[in-house]
Amino acid sequence: MRPVTALSPILARGAAPLRAHRGTDLRARSWRAEGLLRMFENVLEVGERPQDLVVYAAIGQAARDWDAAARIATALLELDVSETLILQSGLPVGTLPTHDGAPLVLSAVNNTVGNWATADRFYDRFASGQTIWGGLTAAAWQYIGRQGVLAGTYELLGAVAARHFGGRTPRYLRGRWMLTAGMGGMGSSQPISAAILGLSSLTVEADPAKIERLRAAGGLDVVADDLDAALAALHRALDAGEVIAVGLRGNAAEVFPAVVARGEAPDVVTDQTAAHDVRFGYLPAGYTLEGWEAVRDTDPQRVERDARASIARQVEAMLVLAQRGSVVFENGNNLRVQAIASLDDTTPVGGEPREDAEARILSIPGFMEAYLRPLFARGIGPFRWVVLSGDTRDLDRIDAEVSALFPQRPEIAAWIALAREHVPEQGLPARSCWLGLGERSAIAVRVNALVASGELTAPVLFSRDHLDSAAMTHPRIGTEGMRDGSDGVTDWPLLDAMVLSATGADLVAIHSGGGGYAGWMQSAGVSIVADGEAATAQRLVRSLDGDSGLGVLRHAQAGYPEAAASAAAGGETCRAPVAWFGRNEGERDA
Ligand code: NAD
Repeated sequence: MRPVTALSPILARGAAPLRAHRGTDLRARSWRAEGLLRMFENVLEVGERPQDLVVYAAIGQAARDWDAAARIATALLELDVSETLILQSGLPVGTLPTHDGAPLVLSAVNNTVGNWATADRFYDRFASGQTIWGGLTAAAWQYIGRQGVLAGTYELLGAVAARHFGGRTPRYLRGRWMLTAGMGGMGSSQPISAAILGLSSLTVEADPAKIERLRAAGGLDVVADDLDAALAALHRALDAGEVIAVGLRGNAAEVFPAVVARGEAPDVVTDQTAAHDVRFGYLPAGYTLEGWEAVRDTDPQRVERDARASIARQVEAMLVLAQRGSVVFENGNNLRVQAIASLDDTTPVGGEPREDAEARILSIPGFMEAYLRPLFARGIGPFRWVVLSGDTRDLDRIDAEVSALFPQRPEIAAWIALAREHVPEQGLPARSCWLGLGERSAIAVRVNALVASGELTAPVLFSRDHLDSAAMTHPRIGTEGMRDGSDGVTDWPLLDAMVLSATGADLVAIHSGGGGYAGWMQSAGVSIVADGEAATAQRLVRSLDGDSGLGVLRHAQAGYPEAAASAAAGGETCRAPVAWFGRNEGERDA
């Protein structure tokens, strides 16, 4: 008899390095459950601290604890397609009888009534094991490492380049550089995305192990221990017309002001430390990594105060660089929110009124409002697929299909070619690609047919980031500055989860923010396995078109003409009808 841990490495409860199951054999009772189990294993394979079930974003977890993780794995192995497994904040509660067109897994993570959705209450409940921060894709088992966000960072930097530098090709970006920080799960995508576009970068990271990991993955050309050496390497390359990615060991709160003091003017400035979490995610200036952990245990409030003060220093430096002409934006990590919160800890410098200081900080735009909203309005966002066989030939085949399927949008084939060349693999073979309404279902149905015909060796799982057209409300990230003022309205991600359940996705999740995102975020996630069955083709079309169709409706309702046009046209493929009723008389923009 096989040992029980052979059924899933999760059953070994973190005792050994975890690798997702690969191959064409089935451990669960259906490919739909098998696919979800492989994804659960995969987020731990590619996660930041699998031994603690931490996947990314400082403390974003895949399950409540190891006992819960093992019980989830066992439940997935035994689950029938006419049952639904219920997960509550990373804990398996039980199964309910449903039907074979219903989701196999329904999950809700850390959703809390408004008045109780505070960081302090979260940390208390987290410490006593009552909840987790599920990240966006951690507890929903959709994380594929930096590959997931890499396409988004590429889209973002491309939009920045098109807006400010004349175009989004190396021709316009050669000789330019970006200052940023953070080489964690997501942040490590920054230098790679920049290099693909021909933009050089200097990325600051406090943890030498993260620097070494990214260097080994081919994401850094040079690593420096001090700013002078880093700048010298950078300018040497820029002068020679080369593109370079420089990693600098240091603290962003110290390095950014030092860059200002040196009189430098980077072309682009941003940050992707885990600043959203001032207890676990942002190393305060003057702390060592070891000292940080120790003080966090004995005096967490001090750590939080010091982190906020450090973030404020970094943000002040970013504001100076903006005055010098750098393009400065926040990249989805609540940096500005934390800098504003620091105003409560200190007496204002030079007696500046609080509102003025807050307005100055908010003069830094959020990346979504400033650059990516026109794509979201058309339902175009971070879609992804994961090859469950683990066989890269399956990925090659899907890449070829996607490249041929959308001639009307040549940027899709261009991205696939770049991704194949530049994106380092992590975990099960996967691809992230920004697709819109109608495109996602078109490729999913095609792949389902290839699974049915045996041209792909095993089923393929489709998913996306929660930061998508309909799926997220975060008034400082996805929904900042909505035209109708609906920045904080969470009806949309909740409706999205209902649409996804009604249309028969395989996993539907509703997450709320934890830690520094507490009270700031609501999101919905979806996974669906193309197992080659005819009924699955229908569920793929309904759920994927429903998901991006709702995004188009949400943006049309908010007054975005691109969305109204998309609804009228039937999406990007003209074959995904969305019936939008038009705005009510009297509905106005904010
Ligand atoms: P992570 O916890 O894996 O990594 C954070 C990194 O920042 C770590 O390597 C840490 O050592 C480093 N760091 C912390 N403080 C530092 C400091 N003062 N100076 C230099 N380095 C420091 O987090 P992640 O998964 O990379 O996510 C980073 C942030 O991006 C999070 O806030 C996350 O929520 C956000 N995010 C944004 C998007 C997006 O679409 N824009 C997507 C995913 C995540």
